[in-house]
Amino acid sequence: MIKELVPNFKKDSRQLIASKSITLFGLGVTLFFTMYSYFFNNSILLYVDLFLLLLLFITTLIMKKRNIYLLGKIALIIMLAGVFILIYANNGMGLVFAWSFIATKFIIIIFGYKRGLIYSFLFNIAIFVLMYKYIGEAITSSGYVRFISISITLTIIAFAYEYSIDNTIKRLHKIQANLEETIKIDSLTNIFNRRYFDTIFPQQIKISKRNNKYLALTMIDIDNFKSYNDTYGHQAGDEVLKSVAQSFKSSLKRPDDYVFRLGGEEFGVLYQLNKKENALVVANKICKNIERLKIAHSENSVSPFVTVSIGVHIVKPQDKHDCDDIYKIADDALYVAKQNGKNRVEEL
Ligand code: GH3
Ligand code: MG
Ligand code: MG
Repeated sequence: MIKELVPNFKKDSRQLIASKSITLFGLGVTLFFTMYSYFFNNSILLYVDLFLLLLLFITTLIMKKRNIYLLGKIALIIMLAGVFILIYANNGMGLVFAWSFIATKFIIIIFGYKRGLIYSFLFNIAIFVLMYKYIGEAITSSGYVRFISISITLTIIAFAYEYSIDNTIKRLHKIQANLEETIKIDSLTNIFNRRYFDTIFPQQIKISKRNNKYLALTMIDIDNFKSYNDTYGHQAGDEVLKSVAQSFKSSLKRPDDYVFRLGGEEFGVLYQLNKKENALVVANKICKNIERLKIAHSENSVSPFVTVSIGVHIVKPQDKHDCDDIYKIADDALYVAKQNGKNRVEEL
């Protein structure tokens, strides 16, 4: 299988890296400001910074092992609170508001591009309101407008970037899903192929055992198909394979019935049963339905039409469940059906 072709890296890797880095960055920045306030004797800010530092440190200790994504969100919220306090404590002076620019990108990565955009706008609006207080004291009106334009531009860039990454990942996941579907299917007959049989067969054995049900493995082979090809041509033979496959599919309608093309003109059918007796009822129906297609086959020794021979083996819930053994018995049953005159069902 090609399961890990596109790992779910949006959550597992990008958000993980963002969560880790914002936590580390938050710890570094709050530590720096705590020391700065300590050495420059700004006692109120010192307590605030120390409080944020301890809060972040304790949260990191508690959450590190448990939920790194949640830790990233909490660290981000603590950082945003720090930006507010910083702007407020400095009366909007200098470049302290520029810290809010850094937050935008992280908000959008950590919360995803949809919710992140809303949170980012709300956060920026709160900063705009706070900064508005300082027009005329610490900043000019044109400086204020410039700040708003930069934060809106950064938000839009971060959104567009995240949106494009998210869409690319979604498209890759779709391609992966299509590929996974494609490699299960036989290209000529459009039914499941041998590769998928090898995956499903052991799974179905386990499921039937768990549900205490019978599992029928039915091996099907077209009778005298070599002479069909010799008489009507290989292309006509291919058309027969398609019709026969469709007939199997319409004979079996339940979601846990599986029809496979196992090789050239050999097919396999897996179905679960409550009653053992039903296995042969189903197999006989499959067999009859092929002859009822009335595909002319003048060289068929047993009928004027295309027919199939079927070998059935029923796996009981209490049986030993070795895939190769089960396969071998069903194949032997098919051989017996051929020996006993073809166009028939035999069970072993
Ligand atoms: P029996 O009744 O004993 O099964 O005889 P048979 O002729 O069907 O058996 P055999 O295994 O000798 O021949 C199988 C033939 O199936 C050989 C080949 O020409 C044909 N065949 C296998 N794969 C394909 C395919 O993809 N397309 C077509 N047209 N024929 C195929
Ligand atoms: Mg064959
Ligand atoms: Mg054959």
